[in-house]
Amino acid sequence: MSTLKAVRGTRDLLPPETALWNRIEAIAREVFARYNFGEIRTPIFEDTSLFARGVGEETDIVSKEMFTWEDRSRAQSEKNQSLTLRPENTAGVVRAYIEHKLGESGQLQKLFYIGPQFRRERPQKGRYRQFSQIGAEVIGPPHAGSESPLRDAEVLEMLATLLDELGITGWTLEINSVGSSADRERYNQTLREALVPVVGQMCEDCQRRAVTNPLRVLDCKVPEDQPIIDALPKIVDSLDEDSKTHFAAVLAALDAAEVPYTRNHRLVRGLDYYTRTTFEFTHGGLGAQNALLGGGRYDGLSEAIGGPKAPGIGFAMGEDRLVLTLLAQQQAEPVKNDAYIAPLGDAKDQAALARMNAAALALARELRRAGLSVELGDGSFRLKKSFEAADKVARRIVILGEDELASGILTVKDFASGAQTKVPRAELAAILARPAGA
Ligand code: AMP
Repeated sequence: MSTLKAVRGTRDLLPPETALWNRIEAIAREVFARYNFGEIRTPIFEDTSLFARGVGEETDIVSKEMFTWEDRSRAQSEKNQSLTLRPENTAGVVRAYIEHKLGESGQLQKLFYIGPQFRRERPQKGRYRQFSQIGAEVIGPPHAGSESPLRDAEVLEMLATLLDELGITGWTLEINSVGSSADRERYNQTLREALVPVVGQMCEDCQRRAVTNPLRVLDCKVPEDQPIIDALPKIVDSLDEDSKTHFAAVLAALDAAEVPYTRNHRLVRGLDYYTRTTFEFTHGGLGAQNALLGGGRYDGLSEAIGGPKAPGIGFAMGEDRLVLTLLAQQQAEPVKNDAYIAPLGDAKDQAALARMNAAALALARELRRAGLSVELGDGSFRLKKSFEAADKVARRIVILGEDELASGILTVKDFASGAQTKVPRAELAAILARPAGA
């Protein structure tokens, strides 16, 4: 029989790496709380039309990458329904915002999510078919201030803080404005005309995009096309006064908060719902898939899926890519346990060994209840083997032999300093709680 494996593009996350995932999520939750964001959890599958209408039929995600199936009805009275594993979470959040009438509170909704998303992309390093995003949305009726450029700047400043606190160094914030949908339409027309004389020299994809969705030409990565694209008209010149003023206010607030950014005239993002501010945080260490996160404003999304006017701004961060970046930065030393308890004894004396095992378990219980992380000996009852095993998983080893058990004085070795000390049992928890080497 052939062995079963995780499906292409999906993977198992195992310890110790999962500790890093948990640390990232804990820091994200803590930062979100400081900025007054609350958690939302939406289903991982939705009605297909949510994504078709919300994300856009013409986008790569909707046209090529969704996991969609016809869900069979169970009763004659029910109809089959087309369902899709969520390829992103913004559409689901806005659907929930509409469904639960969150706008009626008159308050701005500040919501974050952490969870898996699904896209049928060609798997490669940093690109998977099931991946995890950490994201947030600020959405609400215009009178709650949801259109304010201050919200854009606040979200960007929060992201800079979050990446710093995660320990990600060397990120770049790239920012652009794609204007209102009217601005974009105007720009698409300008681009279409500007492409006519040059598109014959461009790649096949660009030739197709020049007709279907000229904006997408700006995403082209083919080296020979780059000089042609760089010479095309820029979207900033198609923005109306309101969009220009909005963008200038976002940049001024970022300057005031000293958040560094780079303007990227070609950043238009792959989803149809974006308006005005769009951004990405990139990282050089990631190779081809260098976007850590992306986001922007989506002032017309709620209306596009049948809701009230509810401008908003949000982002989605690739958690898989945060992990890759941190691993590459070597900041991901596995977290070691506070102590390893090594019961020692005469291997030939079964009764003695059973007594030592029981004593080790009782001691571990005492320390774990005091809040320490503890691993129990491997049952070798041999000093050298116990030291080797302990050094891999714990900061200190506690030796528990017949003498220690009788005297209540335990031997503790600190692996960082190499120091070996005798510690009365009553003081053990306090000593083990100290940082390594202290
Ligand atoms: P997007 O909205 O497509 O820009 O996605 C936002 C972020 O999610 C990206 O910047 C990536 O960090 C991450 N991401 C998107 N697609 C994938 C994928 N297939 N595998 C891993 N991470 C992804």
